[in-house]
Amino acid sequence: MTSIIKAIRGMNDVLPDQSDRWQAVESILKRVVHSYAYHEIRFPVLEQTALFKRCIGDVTDIIEKEMYSFQDRNGDELSLRPEGTACCVRAALEHGLLYHQTQRLWYMGAFYRHERPQKGRYRQFHQLGIESFGVPSPDMDAEVIALSSDIFNAFGLGDVLKLHVNSIGTVKARQAYRSALVDYFTPYHAELDADSVRRLKTNPLRLLDSKDPAIQPLIHRAPKLLDFLEEHSQQHFDYVLSYLEAFGISYTVDPYIVRGLDYYNDTVFEWVADDGLGAQSTVCAGGRYDALVSQLGGSSTPAFGFGLGIERLLLLLEAQEFFQQPVSTADVYIIVAMDKARIEAGVLANTLRRSLPHVRIALHCGEGSLKSQFKKADKSHARFALVLGEEELQHHKITLKYLRESVEQRCVRLDELVSILKDYF
Ligand code: ATP
Ligand code: MG
Repeated sequence: MTSIIKAIRGMNDVLPDQSDRWQAVESILKRVVHSYAYHEIRFPVLEQTALFKRCIGDVTDIIEKEMYSFQDRNGDELSLRPEGTACCVRAALEHGLLYHQTQRLWYMGAFYRHERPQKGRYRQFHQLGIESFGVPSPDMDAEVIALSSDIFNAFGLGDVLKLHVNSIGTVKARQAYRSALVDYFTPYHAELDADSVRRLKTNPLRLLDSKDPAIQPLIHRAPKLLDFLEEHSQQHFDYVLSYLEAFGISYTVDPYIVRGLDYYNDTVFEWVADDGLGAQSTVCAGGRYDALVSQLGGSSTPAFGFGLGIERLLLLLEAQEFFQQPVSTADVYIIVAMDKARIEAGVLANTLRRSLPHVRIALHCGEGSLKSQFKKADKSHARFALVLGEEELQHHKITLKYLRESVEQRCVRLDELVSILKDYF
């Protein structure tokens, strides 16, 4: 027997009973970004590997071990995009979008990282990304954080997710902090896991990101980057916090957020779930990255953005029972009571779809007894069944049966049917 070819581990299909949920989530996300007057940008899933190497930093999980990289037939080094900011900046620069102007952009799509698959962590996952360019002042930090907050409020997750903010200052502040961290951790060398020992040499800040429970107490006693901020960074951060307070957005200052990517400066933030996601508790993360555009060859352009993991958002919403059960697959189900009525039924379905474009009309196709057709209508959770048979054909009428309400079924003309359905939906 021929064996069945399966999907790649960590890459999930979205089946019909789940796709409604994805669409519902995507449409709410789009509504909120629209209300902030952000514009969509789309870019390819493949880019030159050099783009990510230059952006993300060599000593990060993504570059060290998570990228899907390969040589194509021309020998070009390519990678599936592990995140969107690098691609967005590349596209914006290439098309001159950053030249003396502000840009407020969003994108949604699949990203790829070769991680160990588990709940909330996949090898293909989806993000909503927000990137805003050209404004160095803290009002922009506040706008983008407020946008993320509005998203979670739109899903009723205001109490489920907590906003953590921090400032990681400038490169200069981080250099001073880095030496302080090395001085602090070096005497504890023996207690550190292999990864942390390596990071102590290559990128000590990433030590604070360690998920190893054994070294958490050590991390909590470590010096704090906030104490190393320069005056202007401190001021910027104070402003951001004042905005959040004025907007009524609660937050915790969390000195341990350093972010996994190297390109951030000053404000960084995360939305973290208390419960419902296990270890994968961060749903959304971002911050300011004023150096990245020039790092990619553009003129110095301040920027602020975030990435929001859609699978983790869906998991949270499911845990909160956000979605109605059961999901209906049609609004009106047309039942064909005799073979002779098939063409008429098809014409009726087409007419209804044209007159009521937002109503989902399912037409029964193929064989099936009246009983089995009614069963299917019921299973679809349609509100109405329409029946076409001998009697109906003769009198140019349609039988309208209410499937969810106790209303007597009746025989109606097409124009009556359309106006009843229009009123109902
Ligand atoms: P983590 O610490 O969980 O590995 P990260 O810092 O690598 O996250 P970012 O690069 O900041 O994640 O991406 C932003 C968001 O994208 C995350 O908060 C998360 O919701 C989502 N995300 C990142 N990696 C994955 C993944 N492998 N599978 C599912 N969602 C992911
Ligand atoms: Mg990660």
